[in-house]
Amino acid sequence: MPKQRDAQDMTYRGFEQGPIRPPSEAHSLLLRVTRNCPWNRCTFCPVYKGARFSVRPVAHLVRDLDAVYEAVQQLREGTRDPAPPGLAAFDPRAWAAARNWSGSGRRQVFLQDANSLVVDPGDLAAILRHLKTRFPEVTRITSYARSNTIANLDAATLADLRGLGLNRIHIGLESGADQVLKMVRKGATQRRQILAGLKVKEAGMELSEYYMPGLGGRRLLEVNALETAAALNQINPDFIRLRTLAIPTHTPLYEDYTAGRFDKATDVEMARELLLFLESLSGISSAVKSDHLLNLLPEVDGQLPQDQARLMGIIRSFLELDPELQYIYRVGRRTGVLWGLGDLADAGKIARVEAICREYHLRPDDVDGITDDLMRRFI
Ligand code: SF4
Repeated sequence: MPKQRDAQDMTYRGFEQGPIRPPSEAHSLLLRVTRNCPWNRCTFCPVYKGARFSVRPVAHLVRDLDAVYEAVQQLREGTRDPAPPGLAAFDPRAWAAARNWSGSGRRQVFLQDANSLVVDPGDLAAILRHLKTRFPEVTRITSYARSNTIANLDAATLADLRGLGLNRIHIGLESGADQVLKMVRKGATQRRQILAGLKVKEAGMELSEYYMPGLGGRRLLEVNALETAAALNQINPDFIRLRTLAIPTHTPLYEDYTAGRFDKATDVEMARELLLFLESLSGISSAVKSDHLLNLLPEVDGQLPQDQARLMGIIRSFLELDPELQYIYRVGRRTGVLWGLGDLADAGKIARVEAICREYHLRPDDVDGITDDLMRRFI
C-alpha cells in the first residue's frame, strides 16, 4: 500500500490523537503515527470509512513527543493547570494527554492508527528512539497491525523494533476461515494470519489476536469457529480477545445485511459459535479476554488451558436458560442493567429489566432486532 503525503500532511497541526484504541490501552499515551487505515476495505468496519490514509512525518512525531515532554515537566514542577499563557511549547491537546498519562505513571504508549507497522521501519525506529529518550520510564509500547503487513516484514526488522521497545502487537484476525476473510474483504488468508502471528511471537513481542464471533453469519457460523480455532491453535497468542459482531449502519456489511445477502446470526447462535470455538482450542496457553461491551457473556474471560472447561460451562449455562430468562438476560445485558449471568440472581436488577420490557413493549419475538439496535450504540 503506497504511503500518501501531500502539502497538507507536511504541515504540523499540533499534537494529534486518532479515534480508537484497544480497551487495554486506556492508560496509555496515544501517539498518532499514521492517520486512518491504509487498507480500509473490511466490510464490517466503520472506523475510517471515507477518511484518507496518511503517514505523519517523523519530525511531527518528534514535536508531539516534545510537547508532551514539556507538559510533563510543567506538571512535575507543579504548574497549575492549564499551563500559563506564554509558555512557548504550550499545546492544549498535548497538555491534556500529558495530564491523563501522568495520572497512570507514564508506563504505556499506544501507536495509532490502524496499522503503524506500515511505516518505513527506519522512520518507526527513529520515533521509538525519541520516545525512549524523552520517556525512559515507558515499559510497554503497543500498536495495531495488519497480518499482511507483518507477514511482509522480515524477522530482523521486527526484532529491531522489539529491541527499541515495541513489545506488544494487536492484530485484528477477526476470523481464521478463508471463506469468511474473503467475504468481508479482510485482505488476509488463514495462512498469512498464522505466518504473521508466529512472526510477532518469534520477535519476542506479546501478541493479541481479535476474534469476531458472528462474522461468518449463519451460513459460515461453524466454519468461522472451527477455522479460527485452528489458526489460533497454531499461533498460540498471548491474548485472544473476543469482539462479537455488530453491524453499524454506515458499513458495506450493513448494505449486505439489509439486502439479504448476509444472514446475521442471533445472540444465541453466536453463543453456540463461541462454544464450538472454545471446544476446538487445544494445546495453547492464551488468555481469553472478553473486554468489550459488545460481548454477551463477559464472564467468558480466563486463562487457557486451566479455565477452558469453566468458560465453556458459562456458555452452556446461558444456552440452557429457560427461554424467558434468556430473553431477560439479553435485554438486561444490552441495556447495561445486567453485567453478566451472575446478575440473574439479583431480584432488583431483574425487576428493572422487566420494567424496561414493559415500558418499551418488548416481547421475546422481537428481541433480536432490539439487541441489534442496542449493540450499535456500543460501536
Ligand atoms: S484493517 Fe482494521 S481498521 Fe482497516 S478497515 Fe479493516 S478492520 Fe478497519
